[in-house]
Amino acid sequence: TGKRLSGKVTIVTGASSGIGEAIAKGLASEGAKVALAARRIERLEDLKKQIEGEGGIAVCIQTDVTKREEVKELVRHTESVLGPIDILVNNAGVMYYTMMKNLKEDQWERQIDLNCKGLTNCIGGVLDGMLKRNSGHIVNLSSDAGRKGFPGLAVYSGTKFYVEGLSQALRQEVSGEGIRVTCIQPGDVKTELLSHTTDTEAKAAYDGSSNCKILEPSDIANAVIYATTQPDYVGINEILIEPREAP
Ligand code: NDP
Repeated sequence: TGKRLSGKVTIVTGASSGIGEAIAKGLASEGAKVALAARRIERLEDLKKQIEGEGGIAVCIQTDVTKREEVKELVRHTESVLGPIDILVNNAGVMYYTMMKNLKEDQWERQIDLNCKGLTNCIGGVLDGMLKRNSGHIVNLSSDAGRKGFPGLAVYSGTKFYVEGLSQALRQEVSGEGIRVTCIQPGDVKTELLSHTTDTEAKAAYDGSSNCKILEPSDIANAVIYATTQPDYVGINEILIEPREAP
């Protein structure tokens, strides 16, 4: 067909909104067969219909990635319906702007559970199969906050530093095994991410801190397509994407 990811089996976590939705659409448009994972199943069903309407192949699997058993089931189900997993996109994540002194401990825990533990669970689900097949690509959604700490994002930045540290170590462990590990590091993207914030002090400090046009989810999807369509010997280790200041 000339499509660059024709037949590649892909799992996209957090495919029910924002960046994950755009990545799933983008990969499907390049011919990948996509397993859509998130908790809001109706949203996944809508996306599946859109992808199929454009001639793509998708399945929906309701998954809470913080639950290791659900992740095992996501992998098992995907492999039984679509085949062995070629690409895992660890996109599910949450961000709460919050000043540490305001002690939003439940929000700290939720970010760690999803951004660190959820991502790790998903790698645990696919790694053995990828090693046996000597083939695979793990794409992790980090952030510019995975390279730099931002006030109001202490715990979030911490979770994304975790993603970077894990990715650097894993990349070296699996070099020579046919497995690539890519970190995507976006700046501000227009999604539902910011809407979860309840700490008004941190929100106020963030608002108006930039006059950039913020990125579109499709801008990030394009980076994932780029990373996953390079020849086997090319490792795209990191892609930092930031909005440009308006003139
Ligand atoms: P959204 O809030 O729009 O999407 C988050 C996604 O994660 C949703 O699909 C949500 O689906 C899913 N999710 C939440 N909890 C779980 C769970 N327990 N199990 C499975 N899926 C879950 O945010 P974005 O699209 O912006 O964020 C996607 C990724 O991009 C995140 O990792 C984020 O940190 C990263 N990022 C975003 C930036 C931005 O500016 N937007 C910048 C840099 C990085 P559901 O609720 O249905 O489960």
